[in-house]
Amino acid sequence: MIEDSLETEHLTLTLGHLYPDQLNLYGDRGNILTLQRRCQLRAIELRVVGLGIGDALAPDEYDMLFIGGGQDREQAPVAQDVCELKSIGLWAAVEDDMPLLAVCGGYQLLAHYYRPAEGPDMRGLGVFDAWTIHKGARVPRCIGDVAISWHGSTLVGFENHGGRTYLGKAQPLGKVLKGHGNNAEDHTEGAVYRNAYGTYLHGSLLPKNPHFADHLIELALQRKYGRRSQTSTNVQLTTANASASNGVTSLAAAPQEAATLLSALDDTLEWEAHAALLERLGLHDAAAAALRTCTKPVSAFQS
Ligand code: GLN
Repeated sequence: MIEDSLETEHLTLTLGHLYPDQLNLYGDRGNILTLQRRCQLRAIELRVVGLGIGDALAPDEYDMLFIGGGQDREQAPVAQDVCELKSIGLWAAVEDDMPLLAVCGGYQLLAHYYRPAEGPDMRGLGVFDAWTIHKGARVPRCIGDVAISWHGSTLVGFENHGGRTYLGKAQPLGKVLKGHGNNAEDHTEGAVYRNAYGTYLHGSLLPKNPHFADHLIELALQRKYGRRSQTSTNVQLTTANASASNGVTSLAAAPQEAATLLSALDDTLEWEAHAALLERLGLHDAAAAALRTCTKPVSAFQS
């Protein structure tokens, strides 16, 4: 039966790291390292493949995508490559619900355009119905710690951007609790389209937000293995398989029913770091809630 094979199968995921040499600000590579570690602890192999300027993107070769932040000067050549060489592959991946995380400069280039402080507009892919305008060198940048609401929890990070992003029909990733967010005006932060997530949260983001890291991994597993289970029989790896050798405790055929796909990890340190940032921002109740999360995993699939 397929559930037996999934329970013992060596699960693999491939992550496409877009423009690792150009878009790599403020430790954004820490997001990749976090995803690798959280997969490794569940005996899931996460392969990482760099995709630079000039490299073709064949979406069928990947299960997740990441694009980091960058200075205006690095964004310009990347923008051209995004819209010319990688646009078909990126759109195919996004429309096929591949999880994608885009941080800051990468986020801006997946919206409609980025108007830098100087020089011509950089055309973006338009995955996010949004646009970004830099207000000029004399306007203070959006810099500092930031906390937003997300799925009844919080996401924390550090932001440093001159561009102000305004959302059209795109849904925000969350509501700003403290910090600037998209534009320091409308209290939105980030943008979401299908399983593509844009955000200004550097830090890097995922080490202090283990629930969001696991959410991305769950989406990738569900997309890759859950469909296979849907196509054959309505397979459900129940929690009774908690002893599964590959760290996947349940793989529901319908993702919205999955309570948690992944075995819980000891995220005490991660949540203490998360709570410390919330405390620094004066968000004491949210910090207490974060510390309580240490004892139970948070999954975005949970209603
Ligand atoms: N250069 C862009 C801006 O200043 C993005 C910066 C970044 O990626 N941190 O808004």
